[in-house]
Order: sequence, then structure tokens, then C-alpha cells
Amino acid sequence: MIKKVGVIGIGQMGAGIAQVSAQAGYSVIINDISDELLQRGIRGITKLLDKAIEKGKLDQAGKDKILANIKATTELAALSDCDIVIEAATENMAIKKEIFAELDKACKAEAIFATNTSSLPVGDLAASLKRRGQFVGLHFFNPVPVMKLVEVVKTLDTADETFKTAKTFAESIGKTTVSAKDTPGFVVNALLIPYLLDAIRQYENELATREDIDNAMVLGCGHPMGPLTLTDFIGLDTTLYIADIMYDEFKDSHYAAPPLLRRMVNAGYLGKKSGHGFYDYSK
Ligand code: NAD
Repeated sequence: MIKKVGVIGIGQMGAGIAQVSAQAGYSVIINDISDELLQRGIRGITKLLDKAIEKGKLDQAGKDKILANIKATTELAALSDCDIVIEAATENMAIKKEIFAELDKACKAEAIFATNTSSLPVGDLAASLKRRGQFVGLHFFNPVPVMKLVEVVKTLDTADETFKTAKTFAESIGKTTVSAKDTPGFVVNALLIPYLLDAIRQYENELATREDIDNAMVLGCGHPMGPLTLTDFIGLDTTLYIADIMYDEFKDSHYAAPPLLRRMVNAGYLGKKSGHGFYDYSK
């Protein structure tokens, strides 16, 4: 049974995972590479909880209780008694492998390890561990407190019991789960990335203006935002990175990045986070 949750990497995703776990009553311990980053993560969570208070969705006592459920450490060894550790560190195979190798030594034998990777093969991250049967993908969506979905990813080695426990855990923090095979993109990105790449290709081919491409999908298909705006939100670099991994794996032209996307990333047009992508966010 899961009582204590470890979260590694308190960036956009890790902070959200820590928040929703603490909100569901779990005792949470967060880890990052510096105290400053941990404090930044806690400040971000506090800000979101304050917003919930403003909207009348939470009271001060509730906020205090959630924050009291979260402890912070830069030492992976402090996660030794966690029942599940969810890794949401930088999308880099070497960094993640190093984290899991250290956790494998530090954590109790029953602990389950989960990765939030968007594009790396989950099985590859588990391959050199003692507990490869207790390893699973838990792929959350951004922003975690808002988005309902978690993809639960089974590797060739994931034990049924581990899969069930991880799925039940995700449901216990208010998420709806879908099961996915351990292939790049899982379900959502396998469908979403080709759609975004096609929209960029059509824009590059001057089918229509960026506004008309976006409006067409918003008004014609009922999507909450158009594909070029969505790419700006995800990050053009992240979209390119995932597309390249999928293309490498499948050698399928659906996943081939359009030249415009690569040119924009190389020029520093990364989307909303850099102030400029398909649209200008500098003002
Ligand atoms: P981010 O850059 O916001 O956060 C990553 C955090 O990991 C940083 O705080 C960094 O300091 C920390 N970190 C790096 N090395 C570490 C180490 N050795 N030990 C502990 N912490 C370390 O990134 P993010 O957007 O939160 O993405 C994190 C993971 O979640 C990635 O695997 C990404 O693919 C996945 N993901 C991202 C999204 C998204 O929309 N951003 C969605 C789903 C999944």
C-alpha cells in the first residue's frame, strides 16, 4: 500500500505531481539538485494553492495541511522509505539512469519506481536495475493539477502487481488512467505529434495563415486551441525533440519534422517560454 511518495525533479511537472499527491493526503518528499530549486518548486505550489483559496476552492487550513505533507531534500538517500518514487527530472537518458541507479541502492526493496518521461523508452530506464519488475511509466500532462489524464506504461518486465498499484495510485490522486505500450509517444503523443507536424507543414506550404489554421481547428473541430498555438505552449524544442525520437524509432514520415520547425528551434523561437514561437508573446 502506498503512503509515502517521492518525487524527483521539481520543475513544471514534478511540482504538479508533488502538489496533487500531497493534496490527496500522501506524505511527499521532493528532491532536486539544489535547495534553491526545491524552494522555487514550493513557492510555485504555494502560489497555486493561494489562487485556489482566492477562488474559494480551498481554505487556509487546507493549504497548511497540503504544504505540511511536503518535505524537501537534495539527498536521494532520504527517499529510502518511500513506497513509490516518481521521477520527473530533465528529459535526458543519462541523468535519469543515474538517478534510478542511486535510488535502486537507497530505496527499500518493495518500493516501486515510476518515470514521467515523454519520449524515452521506459524499459531502457529500468534495464540495469535490480527491480526492473517494479518499474512503470506514469505519464502525466501539463499542468498536472488541471489535466485529468495519466498514461500508465507497462514495459516487457513490469509485474502485473506493480502496474495495478501504480494505476490505483494515479486514480487515488484524482486522475483517469489509460494503459499504453512502451513505444515512443505512448497514446497521446503518437496521435498528437503527427497532427502538430502536419499543421506546421501546411503553414510552411502556405495553405493558410497561422490564425486561419488555428481558427479552423478551434471553430471547425471544437478544439480548445489551434495546433500552432498548442505547439507554442508545449515548446517548439520539446515538439521537435519528441518528433525526432519517434522518427528515429519508426522511420515513418508521419513523424518527420518539417524544416520550418527545425529552423525556428535553431533560431531560438521556442514558443511561449522564449517569448516567440508561431506567435509573439514578448508583450
Ligand atoms: P523541467 O525542466 O521543468 O524540470 C526538470 C527538473 O529536473 C528541474 O528542476 C531540474 O533541476 C531537475 N533535475 C535535473 N537533474 C536532476 C537530478 N539529477 N536530480 C534531481 N533533479 C534533477 O522539466 P519538465 O517539463 O518538468 O519535465 C520533466 C519530465 O517530465 C521530463 O521527463 C519530460 O519529458 C516529462 N514531461 C513533460 C511534460 C511537459 O509538458 N513539460 C509533460 C509530460 C511529461
